[in-house]
Amino acid sequence: MKSIFTVPRPKYRQARNEFRNKASKAGATLRSYPITYARGQFGEKLFVDVAVWGRNDATKVLVVDAGMHGVEAYGALIGLLAYMRVIRRFGIPQDMRIIFIFPLNPHGTSWLRRVNGHFVDLSRNFLNFALQKGRRFCHLHYDELNDLINPKEIRGLSWLTQRLGMGAFIIKQNMREALRRMKQGDLRGIFSREILMFWSEYSYGWRCLKRAISMGQYKYPKGMQYGGSCEEPENIVLRTIIRTLIPKTVKFLAWVNGHIGLGEWGKPLIITEFGRADPMFEQCVSWYGKVARIESSHDIYAFSTASPDMGAIEHAVTEEVLEIAPNCEITAFCLEVGTYPLWNLGWATHADGWLHQYGNPFSKVGKKIKKEMAEYFYPDDPTWRRKCRKAYLRIIGCSVHGLSEAT
Ligand SMILES: [Zn+2]
Repeated sequence: MKSIFTVPRPKYRQARNEFRNKASKAGATLRSYPITYARGQFGEKLFVDVAVWGRNDATKVLVVDAGMHGVEAYGALIGLLAYMRVIRRFGIPQDMRIIFIFPLNPHGTSWLRRVNGHFVDLSRNFLNFALQKGRRFCHLHYDELNDLINPKEIRGLSWLTQRLGMGAFIIKQNMREALRRMKQGDLRGIFSREILMFWSEYSYGWRCLKRAISMGQYKYPKGMQYGGSCEEPENIVLRTIIRTLIPKTVKFLAWVNGHIGLGEWGKPLIITEFGRADPMFEQCVSWYGKVARIESSHDIYAFSTASPDMGAIEHAVTEEVLEIAPNCEITAFCLEVGTYPLWNLGWATHADGWLHQYGNPFSKVGKKIKKEMAEYFYPDDPTWRRKCRKAYLRIIGCSVHGLSEAT
């Protein structure tokens, strides 16, 4: 059987078989949670598969989930498979349980999408919907940008109009900001790089655009970064996994939420929800500082994506784990391995959103978009794949080591 590591374009069924076979050979207990509301790209049934090692009264637990953003599962998988070889050879520490989840969003993995079968970005779905009472909210600028971000056509004149529109938005925001500074008498600020270089990623307007998109929204179903209107089936499965597979005896938990895309080519980037002054940020630095760049989401987005208003997975993990083990110390973060520049990833995701609403995934254009999605989130490059495998392997290794030392 060919390994997922060597195939140019990965397929869900093959990846699933490899995950289950290798996990089973490494002595794991396997569980499968069916996702029944839809089928995969080739009509296949979809499952969230879980491999578990270690005792059910362990006090230290490591969970790695792959593919919450569907297509990103394949890169994370090569890391999981590599660590299974380590387990096969050396076993796991006595007082530890290790849980690998592949993939959390099988629909997206099969269809090479970031969202699930309901067009929901799961990393924004772990919101307390009961508290929201049906409120449909989004970032101030998202309303303004909605037609540009989610157009009905993406080629020809529409393509041009859309890019010009985004350029105009950036210039407008820069001018607004310049005016605001002028009123405050901040003359140096008006001539700063962030005001004058509108096309640069440092520009004020560009950051407004990035923030409006990356914050996620709950107002436009099928629009980019839509967080849903209720708990999605994958969200419910994840909560079930936590309640049934994490021992009540757990005292220390490390949770690696696996992603692919952001950061430098083939290099690991850890994004934590803790501010730099928080002791948990310090802990991340001491566990992973030697092998990965560590950023706080407060610095990247100027807000915390795990706040109850944003619905990131860390929120659900903390909520559910503290329910079963109130004194547990949790280190949860998002692990990215970088591929292409953010613009490429953004446009491909955007085109994929258009494709599933207005186009045909099996048409010529559809195949081209799918090819791009596969390449941007699982590059067909042996060097990148080796780096990605190493990045995941190191982070998992550091987690096991950190947990082992924790007292
Ligand atoms: Zn992701």
